[in-house]
Amino acid sequence: MTDTAPAPAAEANPPYYPESAMAIVAHPDDIEFGCSGTLALWARHGARISLVLVTSGDVGIAREDFTRQQAAALREQEARAAADVLGAAEIIFLREPDGMVQATLGLRKKLVREIRRFRPEVVISGDPTVVWAGGNYINHPDHRAVALATVDAIFPAAGQPHLFEELGAEGLTAHKVRKVYVTNWREGDTWVAIDETVDVKVAALKCHASQMGSWDVEKNIKQWAADRAKDHGMQYAEIYRVVTLESDEDWAKYKGSNLNRDR
Ligand SMILES: [Zn+2]
Repeated sequence: MTDTAPAPAAEANPPYYPESAMAIVAHPDDIEFGCSGTLALWARHGARISLVLVTSGDVGIAREDFTRQQAAALREQEARAAADVLGAAEIIFLREPDGMVQATLGLRKKLVREIRRFRPEVVISGDPTVVWAGGNYINHPDHRAVALATVDAIFPAAGQPHLFEELGAEGLTAHKVRKVYVTNWREGDTWVAIDETVDVKVAALKCHASQMGSWDVEKNIKQWAADRAKDHGMQYAEIYRVVTLESDEDWAKYKGSNLNRDR
């Protein structure tokens, strides 16, 4: 940002660096497209980062010489490499069938399990209400299903001690997520400046070689991120709608309490 650039958005949204964050998505590369600049930024500022991939993208390689199993293995390998580039502490594969994900109670419980285990301050989710995305894309049904299961896992399920009580027996007691960052293509209320990490985002996406083909990752990603940053006093940005479930005051009390571990 230059001295003369107006910075209303930066003032309205001062940099926020959570202690921990979990991103939950449908496919390998969804994180890299949607929120990897933010995750890499938070990791650089000390956050523990967990990546949860509901499918391993097993129908995402449309070649006859590739079985679904081979595709899943290759895509998990690519996703692990990208996770390393981002500085993630872990990557979890739930291995639901690609292209057939539904927001069932079973999936909600699997996600509650991950949330209660990792205990993130922030969860990054997709937006389950997005069907029409611009004039040339329909939001993938897996994206919508995973986003809905994620939102329902975050609130209220993960934070309710008597819901999925059996997880408590494994030590996975209730956990309240402080904030939800909902990824967004164009509209939102929070612009995260990724000037520092846009090159990390590009490098992470390039790990998904099976998906990128001859697509110019650097040129396109930088163009999109620059379009999003325009008029917000940043060079590159990712956009979110942010839902704050725990106020600063409540979070400070909650963090210091033994609420999670007493049961
Ligand atoms: Zn996807």
